[in-house]
Amino acid sequence: MGRTRTGTGRTGRDRADREGQGAMEQRPAPGRTAGDTPAGAPPRPDTADARRRIPRTDTLLRDPRLAAAVDRLGAHRVKSAVRQAQERARAGGIAPEQVPRTALDLLPGTASGLRPVINATGVLLHTNLGRAPLSDAARQAVQEASGPTDVELDLTTGVRARRGRTALAALRERVPAAGAAHVVNNGAAALVLAATALAAGKEIVVSRGEMVEIGDGFRLPDLLVSTGARLREVGTTNRTTPADYAAAIGPDTAFVLKVHPSNFRITGFTRSARTAELTGLGVPVVVDIGSGLLAPHPALPGEPDADSELCAGAALVTASGDKLLGGPQCGLLLGRQDLLRALARHPLARALRVDKLTLAALEATLTGPPTPTARALAAGPERLRARADRLAAALAADGTDVRAVASAATVGGGGAPGVTLPSAALSLPEPYAAALRTGRLPVVGRLEAGRCLLDLRSVPPEDDDRLARAVRSARAAAHPTATAEPDGADASRAEPTVDGRA
Ligand SMILES: *Cc1c(COP(=O)(O)O)cnc(C)c1O
Repeated sequence: MGRTRTGTGRTGRDRADREGQGAMEQRPAPGRTAGDTPAGAPPRPDTADARRRIPRTDTLLRDPRLAAAVDRLGAHRVKSAVRQAQERARAGGIAPEQVPRTALDLLPGTASGLRPVINATGVLLHTNLGRAPLSDAARQAVQEASGPTDVELDLTTGVRARRGRTALAALRERVPAAGAAHVVNNGAAALVLAATALAAGKEIVVSRGEMVEIGDGFRLPDLLVSTGARLREVGTTNRTTPADYAAAIGPDTAFVLKVHPSNFRITGFTRSARTAELTGLGVPVVVDIGSGLLAPHPALPGEPDADSELCAGAALVTASGDKLLGGPQCGLLLGRQDLLRALARHPLARALRVDKLTLAALEATLTGPPTPTARALAAGPERLRARADRLAAALAADGTDVRAVASAATVGGGGAPGVTLPSAALSLPEPYAAALRTGRLPVVGRLEAGRCLLDLRSVPPEDDDRLARAVRSARAAAHPTATAEPDGADASRAEPTVDGRA
């Protein structure tokens, strides 16, 4: 099943597959090596002749392939590639006839510096890899919303309408217990908006066991204090009881905050208060569930979800959109209508509002087919093992040192700490890790006991063939000594044809 990546007709896959070919055609022109004319020496007659044959920039820009590249990437990038190719020809590194092809190969594969990669880490939500991959439906929605849209206009009446109303309606439909919903830039923004609008100059009561650092040095307590709210810490690291909260509530209390420890676990002699135990204290209970599960997930029984928390009496739930919900980066606020009205009307809400692309992707995520994250969570271990066996057999057949092994995947910093998901992986020699990462389609695996593991739970099944191609391409770099092999497979890195582009 081909992915319907949208856009200029060139898919992300095509782009990635094109990358890195620039280095491949740099072989010297026949009978000449680069730099064999000493600087300052008069060029030899044949060199001078070759130089005269180097195509001029305006001629090159009329080449239909380069003209198309100008439409796709902009004139600046294409001219720069053309200049570099001409430079190489002048230096004798390539023949004049190779200039157009070389310029094409020097072009970046993507219009931005962000390169598509295959996540074979086995960490389903990898923050460094952009967390949740969007579903095809969400990618399509982003593409469709990228021009002018009716994001804030009612086309029937012609008057201004609530921004993102269809996405908000979809969110409420998925969370029946929510009286209202609001969307901001990310989970941290959701918490900041709640603290600013409801607790500035007042107190937030929070357990000492829930003072979470979310990563990269950012700590939720610091974030909350930055809004002008005061934190009233209760309980201890391992134990906080409902009575601890009750004793701390006073006239200055704005709300009780429960934060899901989404990236660590405290085990042993522990106690924490459930939401239902805190709803009788006379102040709103705000729950930061983190991962964005909207309803309970059978594979993740310990993971809180928005609907259950609201049913248990939470006044407000905050969550991220790009963790277990499997959508775009955004922050969800769900709960009591009066609170949400106050949040949405607060001046800060304007600074945290999401763009139409996020709203489009979120709605398609909420209403569309299962997300890649949901599919990865649901994948059966036998299916994963069968994929690994099939890939390993195919790769071993052409000489790769590869085996299929059992593996343990994780959800990632975005949720379900301590939970491992049985998985299967390709096990390769360690040098593959760097070779795969730096290939034309980067693949990120993980190192374990001196082997490079490519865990298939975080790879959608439709990417298996691309994964196999990337491994084949990485072989030459991972085994520099193997270049003498008679079957020529090592040339794969230098041969665009093995990438299915013949
Ligand atoms: C991830 C997380 C956050 C931060 O959400 P972002 O979307 O990364 O800003 C806040 N609280 C909890 C419990 C989290 O897990």
